[in-house]
Amino acid sequence: MEHDRNNTCESTTSFGFRAVPETERQGLVNQVFAAVAGRYDLMNDLMSGGLHRLWKRDLITMLNAPRGETPFRLLDVAGGTGDIALRYARDSGPKATAVICDISPEMLEVGRNRISAAGLQNRIACVEGNAEALPFESGSFDAYTIAFGIRNVTHIDKALAEAYRVLKPGGRFLCLEFSECQVPILDRLYDFHSFEVIPRLGKFTAGAAEPYRYLVESIRRFPKQEAFAGLVRGAGFGRVSYRNLTGGIAAIHTGWKI
Ligand code: SAM
Repeated sequence: MEHDRNNTCESTTSFGFRAVPETERQGLVNQVFAAVAGRYDLMNDLMSGGLHRLWKRDLITMLNAPRGETPFRLLDVAGGTGDIALRYARDSGPKATAVICDISPEMLEVGRNRISAAGLQNRIACVEGNAEALPFESGSFDAYTIAFGIRNVTHIDKALAEAYRVLKPGGRFLCLEFSECQVPILDRLYDFHSFEVIPRLGKFTAGAAEPYRYLVESIRRFPKQEAFAGLVRGAGFGRVSYRNLTGGIAAIHTGWKI
């Protein structure tokens, strides 16, 4: 809590390693993604050495959407430039559709261009919206994915409650997010890469180190594997489990609306 000049209390929260008023956090996050949108895909490849592609492929494999004629409706929240929705559409049957919902118009604009270039605009729609108050009816999706998105949301519990609400009974939740590296030595290399290499790469490639410092710091503030699994259970999901990727640098959490 912080007291302003009128001595009223304002809740604070973390923005990377900084404490900021809760009401300002989302605006700061939006500035980060507005600044990096044009270079986001290139930076993802450079920062992760292409690993994010393998992790996303794992997410799509676990989603296991129908390849035949069965209709299936995916909501990809914080879907940004469309990586998950594009992979899903290519991997699934013709009646599998997706909606990307993201709060950043700049990220969505890049996504729309990629979707048109892939000729998939009839199967993937883009909607601007906040994960904490999704602009969709309850019980309207077969699956919900969120990749590297939930740590950017101010109130994780609200985003999880919304995920639960918009899923149909029997629907599946899948979250791909950075997590705690649990392999000795790899964790030290990962620290060096995160705090020394990534901000420099950001400065060199995108002309700004600050947004990339936020990305790294926000990863370290995010709840670790077990703690996040507890939050997913707390939102009402059943059969919650997680799988570590690359020694826990990232993890995929899954749960069912039973
Ligand atoms: N899912 C994409 C991927 O894996 O490449 C993009 C991930 S990017 C690191 C995080 C995304 O979360 C950004 O596009 C950002 O605009 C979005 N985001 C941040 N806060 C959000 C919120 N409250 N609701 C919806 N999207 C949000």
